[in-house]
Amino acid sequence: MMQWLQLNWQQLLIGFTCGAVLTALLAWLLFYLQQKKWQLNVADQLEDSIQQRTLELQITLTELADKNKQLEQQSTRDALTGVRNRAFFDQKLSAEIKRSRRERSTLGLLMIDIDHFKAFNDNHGHLVGDLVIKEVAKCLQQELKRSTDHLCRYGGEEFAIILPNTDKEGAMVLAEQVRLCLANHRIQHEELELSISVSIGCYAAVAEIHSVSADYIQAADTALYQAKNEGRNRVICSALSHSVITEQETTDESV
Ligand code: GH3
Ligand code: MG
Ligand code: MG
Repeated sequence: MMQWLQLNWQQLLIGFTCGAVLTALLAWLLFYLQQKKWQLNVADQLEDSIQQRTLELQITLTELADKNKQLEQQSTRDALTGVRNRAFFDQKLSAEIKRSRRERSTLGLLMIDIDHFKAFNDNHGHLVGDLVIKEVAKCLQQELKRSTDHLCRYGGEEFAIILPNTDKEGAMVLAEQVRLCLANHRIQHEELELSISVSIGCYAAVAEIHSVSADYIQAADTALYQAKNEGRNRVICSALSHSVITEQETTDESV
């Protein structure tokens, strides 16, 4: 009897130990699987959250890029007419002079001034004056066919057109076209019908080693004032060559 009890007791102990070990293993396995599932959930949530943040960041970056583009546009556009402004003109002319020198290509410049513009302001008020400036800008823009030609508001009622790869004859043809178009244009405002005309000074040359923006502006401007003096509503092309301009500047400086 004692022997039977001792044997069973040992078997019971072994069975109990095995059971305990198995239970512990099972519990550990369950805990491990639960842990794994929780980790996967956290990883999924983290991935979702990263994707969400990336998307938000992309949207913000796109909005920022749009805003920057808009700001850049605003900083180079004239607020009244929407054409390029003086800052753009200065940069573009200087860049085109460098290109003209490098490629030995002719660069043209037109300086355009509305005739007797002050009378529009004086007779009909500044808002009508503004309307005239806007209409002139619109007509000028419509006459430009090459995407490389740039219309800029130089100041007040003066415009400039930069014409890369354009010689004197080409610049003259375009200037005459522009002058005629504006002379035939009528601006309607309430019961008013306004006629306008412009005077245009033109200059075209291949930039030389020492050429700067002022050379082109001065030459086109001189031609413009000649057009004013000769009766307005006309195009005058500068007969100056670079060497003459440089000589003139040297003489002016030495006086
Ligand atoms: P000219 O034929 O010799 O060019 O004479 P003009 O009257 O066109 O030129 P003037 O220089 O005597 O007058 C230009 C006027 O343009 C003076 C200025 O008050 C006016 N002006 C300049 N900018 C603007 C603007 O943005 N809007 C309006 N309405 N007037 C302007
Ligand atoms: Mg003027
Ligand atoms: Mg004027």
